[in-house]
Order: sequence, then structure tokens, then C-alpha cells
Amino acid sequence: MKLLILGGTTEAMLLGRALADDPRFAAMISLAGRTRTPAPQPLPCRIGGFGGAQGLAQFLAAERIDALIDATHPFAEQISRHADFAARSVGAPLLSVQRPEWRPIAGDHWIPVSNMNAAALAIGGTPRRVLLTIGRKDLAPFAAAPQHRYVIRSVDPPPPELLPPNAEIIAARGPFLEEDERRLLAEREIEILVTKNSGGSATIAKLHAARALGVRVVMVARPPPAAGDRVTTVKEALAWLTLRHEALSPRGV
Ligand code: NAP
Repeated sequence: MKLLILGGTTEAMLLGRALADDPRFAAMISLAGRTRTPAPQPLPCRIGGFGGAQGLAQFLAAERIDALIDATHPFAEQISRHADFAARSVGAPLLSVQRPEWRPIAGDHWIPVSNMNAAALAIGGTPRRVLLTIGRKDLAPFAAAPQHRYVIRSVDPPPPELLPPNAEIIAARGPFLEEDERRLLAEREIEILVTKNSGGSATIAKLHAARALGVRVVMVARPPPAAGDRVTTVKEALAWLTLRHEALSPRGV
């Protein structure tokens, strides 16, 4: 059974590892090519966009893909829409693998917001020391609030023209340890952390550190999930694939 996994996440990597030695499946991972040095992938990998939803549909048809797995980041909205369109166009089943959201617990000081503009407003008018862990793409609302001092952590440094004034850049890729996160918050005297509700364990240590130090967290909610079949773990994804594989295989084979 030929599979295309849309990746760029821990889940795609773990699913890839689980499928690498499974003779029932011939799977390939696709990455957008956003980071300069992508992590090594456990499966054959292609890099770069497909040229829109039509391009992805053409790719699925040309490669005779039997099922499409959308294991992209919960905030990667566009590619998930394209996956839905392309899978419908060629009649391939689509599964979305999306890790559970983070939830606040006792001791957290979360300010929930629904998008990045609201996140920038939620910091307020008074100058603050702010840690942004939102990636490189969505900095414009913060550049428009230049009264704050920003520390921006992303895998690769953001383009200089997108930066707010007074920004310090930390280029780093998770997973991060809580003691390092605490040190970062304490040394930079961070008052507010801004993050997307990405979920997962690789970057959760910042939330533990913020709780321990009484740092407020502006938490940006996820966009609505795409339509179609959805699971939250790699184990559930493998069960879904097994069912699909059985449905494709002739009886008794
Ligand atoms: P996006 O806005 O949903 O997608 C923009 C375009 O990038 C898509 O239309 C597609 O180009 C291309 N693309 C995205 N994911 C792709 C993939 N896996 N393989 C091939 N092309 C892909 O996506 P994004 O938010 O920029 O995220 C890009 C990648 O980074 C995704 O793979 C995602 O899993 C990963 N990531 C994103 C975030 C985040 O916060 N957004 C965080 C961590 C990792 P075409 O239209 O040309 O096909």
C-alpha cells in the first residue's frame, strides 16, 4: 500500500519509523523545506511544496498513492486544506494525525487568545519583557507593538525585515529541558511567554518553567481541525492503516 505522509512534525517522524520496516506499506515523507537543516527522516523523503492543492492531487495520482496521512503541525492550516482537496480529488482516504492540545493546570496563568493579533494585544500597552516561541512567520503583530523587549526563539533565525526593534534571537530546535527553560526565563527576566497551543512533549518544558516562575502565558488557540478521519497518536494511525490495508488486500492474502 503506497502512502504519502505530510510531515515536519515529531508524529510524522515516529510514524515513519514505525512504517519503515513494515512490508505492507511503501511510505514516503514530504517536508515543506522550511528549515535549513531538516532532521534526518526514517523514510524516503521529498522536499518542497507541490504547487497548491491541484499540484498535490497530481502528485497523488502520478505516484498512485493509496492513502494520504496529514501529520503536519496543527497550525499548518493551508497544507491540511490542500490535503483534504487533493485526497477527495483522487478518491484516496485521508487521515489526519494531530497531537492533543495542552491544557492549563493549577498554577498556570494563561491568557487564551484566538490568533496572533490578539496575542500581541494581550501583552498590553505597558512595556514588557516577552519571550516569543511562535516560529518565524507571524511576527508582524509584534513588530507593531515595539514598546516591548522581545526574545524570539525559532529553529532558524527570522528574516531581519520581519523583526520588531529590540529583539534578541535565539535559534534553537527542541526538545528543551525544564531547567534550561527556567534559566532562560530567569536570565532574560521574562514576564510573558507567547506560544501556539502546539501540544506534545518536545516543547512543553517552557510551560512547566513558566508555571514555576509565575510567568504569564499568552496561549494562541489552534485553528479548527480539517475535515475527515482524525487520530491523536501514532498507535491509532497504525490501527487505521491496518484496517485500510486489509480492505485493499484480497481475502486470505
Ligand atoms: P502551511 O502554511 O500550511 O503551508 C504553506 C505551503 O507550504 C503549502 O501550501 C505547501 O506548498 C507547503 N507545505 C507545507 N507543508 C508541506 C509538506 N509537509 N510537504 C510539502 N509541502 C508543504 O504550512 P506551514 O505552517 O508553513 O508549515 C510548513 C511545515 O512546517 C509543515 O510541514 C509543518 O508540519 C511544519 N511545522 C509548522 C509549524 C507551524 O507552527 N506552522 C510548526 C512546526 C512545524 P504548496 O501549496 O506549494 O504545496
